[in-house]
Amino acid sequence: MNCEICGAFEENLFRTEVEGAVMNLCKNCSKYGKVIGDSVQASSQVQRKAESESQLRYDYLNEIKHALNENGLSIEEVSESIRCSPKDLKKVVNGEMLPDKNITEKLEKLLKISLYEIDFVSDSAFKKDTDELSFGDVVDIKRSKK
Ligand SMILES: [Zn+2]
Repeated sequence: MNCEICGAFEENLFRTEVEGAVMNLCKNCSKYGKVIGDSVQASSQVQRKAESESQLRYDYLNEIKHALNENGLSIEEVSESIRCSPKDLKKVVNGEMLPDKNITEKLEKLLKISLYEIDFVSDSAFKKDTDELSFGDVVDIKRSKK
């Protein structure tokens, strides 16, 4: 998020009322107005991140095992390529340990599989918005052509 006055990139911006307009400003610039709270956008981004982190597929273990078989790769070989300990990877494959995102992302790339559910909730909400927009756009285009 960038400060709307000076453009500085800040993790957390402050919702600040400046001469009647609400802006997201860095700490420095928030002095120019009245801070009314933390930035809404910043906090929803954090929430979204937390959501997507818990979206491992229910059958991710099968995906990994299947891909290992298919590619004829051993746990040792894979752990070497993704730079994690074979012990950890073994635990992951046996379902004794939840893989952290660092490991799953490398596995996904290496084995060309996807281990995460598509984030249905936020994606469909997002899609609905854009679909409605584009539908309206199409109607507008048709109208203007006539
Ligand atoms: Zn600023």
